[in-house]
Amino acid sequence: MNASITTLPVDAQTRAERMRMPLANEVVIATAEQHGVCIRPFTMEVGDTQTGELRYVAMPCSSTIESVCGPCARKARALRMTQCREGWHLTDEPVFERDEPNADQTAQLAYRADLVKHYRESVDAGELEQADELREAIHEADAELRQLGVRGKLPSPDAPGRRPVSRSTKRRQDAPNLPRRAVAKTTVGREYAGRFRPSMFVTLTCDTYGRVRDDGTPVNSDSYDYRRAARDAVHFSSLVDRWWQNLRRVVGWDAQYFATVEPQRRAAPHLHTAIRGSIAHQVIRQVTAATYHQVWWPAHDEPRFSTDHGPVWEPQVKGFVDPDSRALLTPWADALDQMDEPAHTVTFGRQVHSKGILGGSNEAGRHIGYLTKYLVKNVSEVVEQHTDAQRRHADRLHAELAVTPCSPRCAVWLLYGIQPLGANSKTVAGHCKGRAHRRSTLGLPGRRVLVSRKWSGKTLADHRADRKTFVAEALAAVGIEKPAQDTGRLIWRKVAPGDQNAPPRAHLIMHAIAERITWRAEYDRAMLAASGAPPGQADVSATPVAA
Ligand SMILES: [Zn+2]
Ligand SMILES: [Zn+2]
Repeated sequence: MNASITTLPVDAQTRAERMRMPLANEVVIATAEQHGVCIRPFTMEVGDTQTGELRYVAMPCSSTIESVCGPCARKARALRMTQCREGWHLTDEPVFERDEPNADQTAQLAYRADLVKHYRESVDAGELEQADELREAIHEADAELRQLGVRGKLPSPDAPGRRPVSRSTKRRQDAPNLPRRAVAKTTVGREYAGRFRPSMFVTLTCDTYGRVRDDGTPVNSDSYDYRRAARDAVHFSSLVDRWWQNLRRVVGWDAQYFATVEPQRRAAPHLHTAIRGSIAHQVIRQVTAATYHQVWWPAHDEPRFSTDHGPVWEPQVKGFVDPDSRALLTPWADALDQMDEPAHTVTFGRQVHSKGILGGSNEAGRHIGYLTKYLVKNVSEVVEQHTDAQRRHADRLHAELAVTPCSPRCAVWLLYGIQPLGANSKTVAGHCKGRAHRRSTLGLPGRRVLVSRKWSGKTLADHRADRKTFVAEALAAVGIEKPAQDTGRLIWRKVAPGDQNAPPRAHLIMHAIAERITWRAEYDRAMLAASGAPPGQADVSATPVAA
């Protein structure tokens, strides 16, 4: 970067003094941090089709991790806090109005119907290869439909009764021993004494795998059950899903939640959740103790192959074969047919914390902070790995996760002599890109915030739009009108690397800081006018990190 800064005459300083002076680039970043401006924006080229004007604009990186970009991560966290707050003590049922199906959606559905017709014809004619291809195309069409905003279940391409059904009864989850009620549609909690509307804060943990010390490492690493720890981590989300189902059946209403999954010090996942409405502690304990999840997958206890000498793809049979005997490995569907007990069963640990929280109280605010505290951190930043013992513990868990299949499509299955679903010539035995196997995630799920559909009745985009409207209205109240831009005539393009005309990133950041300062002054003025309080104290509202 060639920005110059004014300095004292060089001969007036010692070398040590000069070395202590920050680089201009560092000062720009520090200033951006201070003003809540993204420190690593990417540059977009914006063309105006009417005026022909070409501008370069800094787009925030939108990282959610503070060590990557503090301002963006804190903004994302603030939005999650708003979402959590708005849903927790909601007093009226959220209203959903479904959009009418649009032309893109109906056209895509017609295309899918066409594929299904061809698929069934190929199945009937015994053209299995073509059927497979069409099946794949139907999957893609379904994904496209979801992209277009279509929700709900799409009908299976197979004609009813065409697939063997014998498996399903065997794989059914046993129903836990819990009282059952019909689940009513209501999602808001009850009101007590005419004004109190308590809600819940609950923490659920995984089972024990062996005693651990305060630093999270096992007292005896030989007896610590790393295999179960790895499998529990991989299936934790499914266990949590079961818990919600069971809880709703027991309480008899459609309980809503805002939950975050965090690693404990021992690197096992645990769940913090805000639940709308009041539920007896006894019920929460009972549901937790009775909830389990059976993993109906083929057994995967003893690997048959290693990654160095793994099964190989055989183009002639379009499948994986044993590297020595050239025998075809068991396909996924056959492996499922052969099993008669679940490969693994996940349960919660005994520690259950639950607490009633009143809406609008300091307690509520504190717990929202607690729920969202670690969202700005990577798993590897939360699980401390300062000592050799801590690093060894993480290594052992990671080694176990490397041989733990994460899904029916996981390439790790090949190590156990089973062809995963959808295996093809590009599949490499033992190499799965799933997050579960990474050293940086230690098996924790990718989605760390779990929000039920009727929590606040809004999407994150809706909450973001709310914030913009709030700010725009506050500014309008003191006569600052920001005319809405006609974005329809703008063409956005990502700047190609090496574009000579694009300004250096530091210039864009400085421009963004200047805009931010102007905006902040206007916003403070608006807040002052609205409340009569001095600036800085006025914005304890939901929107301090707006725009
Ligand atoms: Zn950023
Ligand atoms: Zn995997």
